[in-house]
Amino acid sequence: MVQLDRQDSPPQNPLWLFTMPLYSVEVDNFKSYKGVQTIGPFKHFTAVIGPNGAGKSNLMDAISFVLGVRSAQLRSTQLKDLIYKPGELDDSSISQEQPKKASVTAIYVDHRNGQQYRFSRTITVSSDKSGSSVYTINQKVVKLEDYLATLESHNILVKAKNFLVFQGDVEAIASQNPKSLSKLIDQISGSLELAPEYERKKAAYLEASKNSNDTIARRRVINAEIKDFKQQKTEMEKYDLLCRERDESIIHHLLWKLFHIESQINEHLGSIQSKNETLRPMRAETAELERSVAAARREYAHVTKDVAQTENELKLKEKYKEEEKLPRLVDCEEKLKHLQKKRANEERAMLNLSKEKAAKEKELASLRR
Ligand code: ATP
Ligand code: MG
Repeated sequence: MVQLDRQDSPPQNPLWLFTMPLYSVEVDNFKSYKGVQTIGPFKHFTAVIGPNGAGKSNLMDAISFVLGVRSAQLRSTQLKDLIYKPGELDDSSISQEQPKKASVTAIYVDHRNGQQYRFSRTITVSSDKSGSSVYTINQKVVKLEDYLATLESHNILVKAKNFLVFQGDVEAIASQNPKSLSKLIDQISGSLELAPEYERKKAAYLEASKNSNDTIARRRVINAEIKDFKQQKTEMEKYDLLCRERDESIIHHLLWKLFHIESQINEHLGSIQSKNETLRPMRAETAELERSVAAARREYAHVTKDVAQTENELKLKEKYKEEEKLPRLVDCEEKLKHLQKKRANEERAMLNLSKEKAAKEKELASLRR
């Protein structure tokens, strides 16, 4: 049992981790302690010594009992064994009745403000019951959980049993192997209590960090995809822009072409008009020539007809040459010669006119084009 003196101040005492040292213990009919007994006040280090059977372990049991340790963990299987039993040493002249209840009160003092805390546990037994415990803090009855929670809030960890060194503990600890020792240290420090929660949280942490890694990896993939899509989008927009620019250029080019075609048309219309002006007298001349050609043709036909008639006449004359009037034949021959000459002239003239007409038609066609 290691305790701090309540007068000790933090800087001088290395064992200052106890914020609220045990000041004294009051026992009432607990085990070998008859009636109400006050043990203490304790110093910051207290050793309990005495002959065998003097009740050293009973004091340790009393402290364990008042801190809520279960009876199975004490040295008695039944609660009622914890109540003082009158023995041979008791004064036989006085009637010795078996007490029905026993209690232990632990008196703690908060060194910071000198305030006293009384933690008390009482057991009562009756013939029909094996025994029950009542816990009080400063005379106020509380539930076991609240009782233990209050002790824990003052750094008294009942489950860790970090405040008692039992008989044989030192020897037992000295003979332990490293693994058991480290387990004991875990138990004393209270970390063994936290081991299942630690393992659970560690598993949760590993799961969460795995999930987080997965998420990061997924996010990385998604980011890469987003980057790709953005690049593709930029390229698409660039392509669209170029398409629009190309269409506008085509339209611009076609408009430019149309503009030039229109100005060429206007130019050509002017030229056609002026050519038409030039053509008008030529057309008139052509028409005149065509009329002349027609007249010449008519004349030619006429002459051809005359020639044919004269030839017929000549044939007839040849037939009757000898027997009929020769002088008339001579006249006819003269006439024939004259007509043949005239026909040759007409043919020449007609040929010339045809040539001239063909030339004019050609010129007209070129002007039209
Ligand atoms: P040791 O040095 O042998 O360990 P100890 O000092 O630790 O001895 P305890 O075990 O604390 O001694 O005390 C045992 C004594 O307490 C015995 O004499 C026993 O008769 C007595 N005792 C135990 N339970 C009761 C009880 N319910 N009523 C009265 N006396 C009791
Ligand atoms: Mg003992």
